[in-house]
Amino acid sequence: MTVKEILDATPLSFSFEFFPPRTEDGWDSLFHNIADLMPLKPSWVSVTYGAGGSTRDRTHDLVMRIQKETNLTAVAHLTCVGSSQDEIAGIIDRYVKNDVLNILALGGDPPKDIPDWKPQPDGFRYAGELVGFIKQQHPQLSVGVAGFPEGHPATPNRLMEIDHLKDKVDAGADYIITQLFFDNRDYYDFCERCEIAGIRVPIIAGIMPVLTKKGMYRMAELAAGARLPARLLKLISRADSDDYVAKAGIHWASEQVRDLLDNEARGIHFFTLNKSRATIQIYESLGVRSSEQFLR
Ligand SMILES: Cc1cc2nc3c(=O)[nH]c(=O)nc-3n(C[C@H](O)[C@H](O)[C@H](O)COP(=O)(O)OP(=O)(O)OC[C@H]3O[C@@H](n4cnc5c(N)ncnc54)[C@H](O)[C@@H]3O)c2cc1C
Repeated sequence: MTVKEILDATPLSFSFEFFPPRTEDGWDSLFHNIADLMPLKPSWVSVTYGAGGSTRDRTHDLVMRIQKETNLTAVAHLTCVGSSQDEIAGIIDRYVKNDVLNILALGGDPPKDIPDWKPQPDGFRYAGELVGFIKQQHPQLSVGVAGFPEGHPATPNRLMEIDHLKDKVDAGADYIITQLFFDNRDYYDFCERCEIAGIRVPIIAGIMPVLTKKGMYRMAELAAGARLPARLLKLISRADSDDYVAKAGIHWASEQVRDLLDNEARGIHFFTLNKSRATIQIYESLGVRSSEQFLR
């Protein structure tokens, strides 16, 4: 099934994101966690792709294993910056041959440690070009793109940024998944700005709870633009162990999800970091055993 078909059939989606592990133990642990998450009945799951193709085969292998060993719909992330057009075409063709029908088309980040880095002459510079290429080659594929409620650092002009997002949608994107955010007002404002720009596809809210203080610093580094509100920092600063940081972070994320559901968000995407506990606890704290119960 494609994500477009799923979104057309439901007013509210719930998706979980994983990354391809590096070690055998990591694979075992991930599949245990996936088994724990299965009762929550996600609408689909997605698998990240390492910048510049560093996880090319592992992403493919994880997507294939999920499709073969579970009844879950899998979405393969794919970044274009740094790859040639042939390389990208080869990756997509392999997915199509294996009945993978869903791609999250991303720009990806140029390597930070190479100051005079230049894109491949025949490669793609922006995700919009990748979306157009996929749709031209394989119109049957469902393609999602990334959105940034608090803005993307490479485009300080917020108006231009929404224009670029509109270009991705006009190129054929079926839905948008947002970067994680901690203040729902940023998401609502983003949705309104998209509406004004004529962006009509579902905008799925990216949620990731703070689980450790160290993790919080990492999130601030990696999640371009994500702001940690003072109210959240105050909550976290009271916790005297990582166990209690996790309790506070999960409480915050649960409140975010509750508020998003009350305000008719189109979908929630959980960045799971390959663990099941936080996502399960968010569901439990909202009084449900599976995604279907949110629809009642
Ligand atoms: C849900 C989600 C999942 C992600 N998964 C991954 C992953 O698996 N692997 C990974 O490496 N990264 C991933 N990322 C991170 C993402 O690759 C980076 O944040 C990247 O910097 C931006 O990607 P993009 O797809 O938005 O790129 P783009 O849409 O190409 O945008 C990048 C920047 O360029 C600007 N821009 C776009 N088009 C144009 C244009 N035509 N002219 C001028 N400027 C333009 C945009 O405004 C933006 O500032 C993910 C992000 C999200 C939100």
